[in-house]
Amino acid sequence: MTKQPIITVVGSINMDMVTVTDQVPVQGETLIGERFETIPGGKGANQAVAAARLGGNVQFIGRVGDDAFGKELQQVLQQEGISVTNVEPVTHSSSGVATILLSENDNRIIVIPGANRHVTPEYVERHKEQLLASDLVLLQFEIPLETIRYCLDLCEQAGIPAIVNPAPAQNLGEDYWKKALYITPNETEEKELDLDQNQEIAQKLIVTMGERGAKFTENGEEKLVPSYKVEPTDTTGAGDTFNGALAVAISENMSLQQAVEFANAAAALSVQRFGAQGGMPTRDELEQFIR
Ligand code: ADP
Repeated sequence: MTKQPIITVVGSINMDMVTVTDQVPVQGETLIGERFETIPGGKGANQAVAAARLGGNVQFIGRVGDDAFGKELQQVLQQEGISVTNVEPVTHSSSGVATILLSENDNRIIVIPGANRHVTPEYVERHKEQLLASDLVLLQFEIPLETIRYCLDLCEQAGIPAIVNPAPAQNLGEDYWKKALYITPNETEEKELDLDQNQEIAQKLIVTMGERGAKFTENGEEKLVPSYKVEPTDTTGAGDTFNGALAVAISENMSLQQAVEFANAAAALSVQRFGAQGGMPTRDELEQFIR
């Protein structure tokens, strides 16, 4: 049997704390809300879970806090079969958390990066051996940008392909965009980053377009891969599912067209169920769906 490719995600891990309420309070006001839930998230963790459910051999390089959430978040990854040997707690830091007030017409969110701020170049250097053992690296922008650059330098030196999901949109610098194998913004991020101005960078773009699917350029020709028609229930994490699935497909040497179809299918399945990680399909579910 050939060795299964190793996908390494270097990225964020968060706990979303969701308070559902009819009304959000005004300054100084206390209200009784409807219910409270904690939901594991963070783009790094989400994409790792998406890839692992689809059969990827996934290892994670990241950090959690030395709080109760930290232990739970590590367990969630582990239960998905993701290696967390390289997920160390940060002493005297909270885990990454998002405090979310969810009401019908007024959502308010505060993100505390917490331990994710400590995924520094020095931290990755300490776990360099694991990174260099990868067949593919998957990166998002919820950890310091200098860490992304450090990872891309290492990947380039070692000849490891890297997929960069530039979310939330931040400018990495022309030299660094060029080090990615593929760059996967959604349409809003693409507009903000204006990456199609440079020929070499434009060739690397895979732009996700919500219910319309995704587009990429091959041999100078733009190709649109339409999404699957489904009734969406919750589109949270659609992009994360797309990226995790894309990583699995690319690591298995599918053609780019096939890989984008595979990622579209995974994401279409995910939007039919609630929650980011909650909606992510298994390989069996995906194969049933595209048959
Ligand atoms: P993000 O979640 O990052 O904003 P998009 O909205 O572009 O990203 O969605 C990512 C991918 O999820 C799309 O390329 C598509 O494959 C899939 N997707 C999103 N919304 C739908 C939908 N309503 N129906 C089918 N597929 C969808």
